[in-house]
Amino acid sequence: MTKMIEIEHLKKNFGKNEVLKDISATVNKGQVICIIGPSGSGKSTFLRCLNVLETPTAGKIIFDGTDLAKLNDGKELDELREKMGMVFQNFNLFPNMNVIENIKLAPMKVKGMSDADAEKLGLELLDKVGLKDRAQQYPTSLSGGQQQRVAIARALAMEPEMMLFDEPTSALDPEMVGEVLKTMQDLANSGMTMVVVTHEMGFAREVADKIWFMADGYLQEKGTPAEVFEHPTSERAKDFLSKVL
Ligand code: ADP
Ligand code: MG
Repeated sequence: MTKMIEIEHLKKNFGKNEVLKDISATVNKGQVICIIGPSGSGKSTFLRCLNVLETPTAGKIIFDGTDLAKLNDGKELDELREKMGMVFQNFNLFPNMNVIENIKLAPMKVKGMSDADAEKLGLELLDKVGLKDRAQQYPTSLSGGQQQRVAIARALAMEPEMMLFDEPTSALDPEMVGEVLKTMQDLANSGMTMVVVTHEMGFAREVADKIWFMADGYLQEKGTPAEVFEHPTSERAKDFLSKVL
């Protein structure tokens, strides 16, 4: 199996708050990892370290063979971030641009893609997420679920090697969760490497190759969904799962 990202003894402190204490893990190409765990346990911080929105206090993150800590200039970091798409809880679409403009912006500005090529790519991606007929609408006229699917299409427009999702359905009304999870499942089936922080245990069980349970600064469990959900070994995971399953 080809390694996509290797994390070695990652630590992250905010002042005296030791959020990530010692995390080592590997994501292989094509794998879907779901990270679960209590609120405040450092899941977002961990994702933000992966795409260098946060600088680790110690440890190594090796992506595509490159140690991210060794990337210091802005250009190298930008190139790295282009290879990792990120989707947030609150969609973060540009409100002053319509849907297709949201998607075309980065490929044109960052990759120098022509307007025509970006338009074609954007419409293909919108078709993939079931929103081709919404290309000219503005984000505020869309439902939360539709906005999140546009956000996924926008991230895919940079043709990333892997996608990071931070609780992509947590801000949605319940009836819209399914359409976003379906889009993510399609993406997983297409072979995309994905790291997904989620509270959707059904999705995690169904779609993840591996579940990582994070608590108290460590990945306390790493295993298949069957292993982690049915035979958790740590007391912390047993307690958490008894509350959410
Ligand atoms: P989770 O996503 O699992 O809910 P977070 O990664 O958001 O957890 O937060 C973990 C801990 O790190 C919390 O105690 C939070 O207050 C702290 N934290 C996160 N980001 C920052 C920051 N930028 N500055 C200081 N503390 C932070
Ligand atoms: Mg979080």
